[in-house]
Amino acid sequence: MDRAAQFIRDRGLDAMRIAGRKVGAGRDRAIDVFNPYTNERIGTVPKATLEEVRQAFETAHAFRPTLTRYERAAILHKAAALVRERLDDIAGLITAEAGLCLKDSIYEAGRVSDVLLFGANEVLKDDGQIFSCDLTPHGKKRRVYTQRSPLLGVITAITPFNHPMNQVAHKVVPSVATNNRMVLKPSEKVPFSAIFFADLLYEAGLPPEMLHVVTGDPREIADELITNEHVDLVTFTGGVSIGKYIARTAGYRRVVLELGGNDPIIVMEDADIDEASTLATQGSYKNSGQRCTAVKRMLVHESVAARFTEQVVEKTRAWKFGDPLDKGNDMGTVIDAAAAELFQSRVNDAVSQGARLLAGNQRDGALYSPTVLADVRPEMTVVREETFGPVSPIIRFKSIDEAIAISNGTAYGLSSSVCTNRLDYITRFVSELQVGSVNVREVPGYRLELTPFGGIKDSGLGYKEGVQEAMKSFTNLKTYSLPWA
Ligand code: NAD
Repeated sequence: MDRAAQFIRDRGLDAMRIAGRKVGAGRDRAIDVFNPYTNERIGTVPKATLEEVRQAFETAHAFRPTLTRYERAAILHKAAALVRERLDDIAGLITAEAGLCLKDSIYEAGRVSDVLLFGANEVLKDDGQIFSCDLTPHGKKRRVYTQRSPLLGVITAITPFNHPMNQVAHKVVPSVATNNRMVLKPSEKVPFSAIFFADLLYEAGLPPEMLHVVTGDPREIADELITNEHVDLVTFTGGVSIGKYIARTAGYRRVVLELGGNDPIIVMEDADIDEASTLATQGSYKNSGQRCTAVKRMLVHESVAARFTEQVVEKTRAWKFGDPLDKGNDMGTVIDAAAAELFQSRVNDAVSQGARLLAGNQRDGALYSPTVLADVRPEMTVVREETFGPVSPIIRFKSIDEAIAISNGTAYGLSSSVCTNRLDYITRFVSELQVGSVNVREVPGYRLELTPFGGIKDSGLGYKEGVQEAMKSFTNLKTYSLPWA
């Protein structure tokens, strides 16, 4: 038996977790999970019944967490230590179910440990505010204080495939840190990392009623996850169409949406082209190009476009891809063959409309080579839509006005990278790009796990993630006021 399959079986990762109990292993109604590189089935997860989903919400809702800040921090610290101790297991699991290369999955495991550490630190802080009330002519001798409390109901978390464990950590850790109860539904394409993460938290001392993991067919259980009477908040990371469906369906509930992106790297005429082309290729190919904040469009000033393109092609050719388990590789597969076929067809479509293919566009199953396309125009599907894979479409512009217009010209508004040292350019980009983040001389995906993160327009409603902001959105803010001399 395949090593990953054995690991999954030995640890009972083929079952859901309802209050820590392993539910549903080995049943007929199950979803197969395949290794995208070998195409072998590495395990199955149960298709939850509606009754089981309701049971998870009932159990979560009935439980009243009483962990002190000290205890929550201790659990999160312990879990971070467990992640570091089991880094190889975690990376192996992510690589087996997502096809990401070990370089990417080891990096992801490190990020998960960071999320836990930031959660442990944040929980020790009290962000309560104090307002004196004698501030105006009709003021009073009182003070208003603020205090955060966990939600009265349960949080539903729904996560995508691209970072099988880190997306989960970004929802579960703030929930634990704020003493909430959560029902998590990971992507059916990569469920095992999520279940393993839940087990680490139970092992670290988390009361199991605070975290439940259900798996299944979204067509059967998604509506229950969104509308169950006990759900107070739905936090979702994934594609735009499902995000908007959740917004429509959730009704009178808080909804946090982290949706798709179409992030540009903008290279101005004064940019260091070696640095810019390195950022462009890393931003485009890391995690097999499957990051919401991956570089999906390369906008370059026409006066440096030839040099930039040449260097991007050179660095693309040097990007090693293939067997995800080979530690020398920089890239493994994309999530499945269907995704690779979509990229190939979008690239072919762009070529038929006048774009020039300079590297890549080779496909073998779910393995898709890093690909460079020049002479791309903004209206081509490959850049108008989110192409969630290792494709580098290069678009030329003549002025900063045009760069900003192209950048703002899609439905998305997640993040961006700008390569320039000119302060006049930087200030314009920061104020005029319609995005959630602007990173100067860094990839769009640069962030701390702690810092506010999230997009606008079709990329999200402006509610941020990042441990600190997620903790805010997972709490109710109460004020109380006292007489004060
Ligand atoms: P997806 O939207 O296909 O699936 C996401 C999750 O939604 C999965 O768990 C899936 O089972 C579930 N789902 C399916 N149908 C549902 C329904 N009707 N109701 C509720 N949930 C349902 O996304 P994906 O393909 O797994 O991930 C890729 C997408 O996620 C990309 O668009 C990417 O940009 C986006 N993403 C965004 C961020 C961000 O922070 N903004 C981060 C990572 C990925």
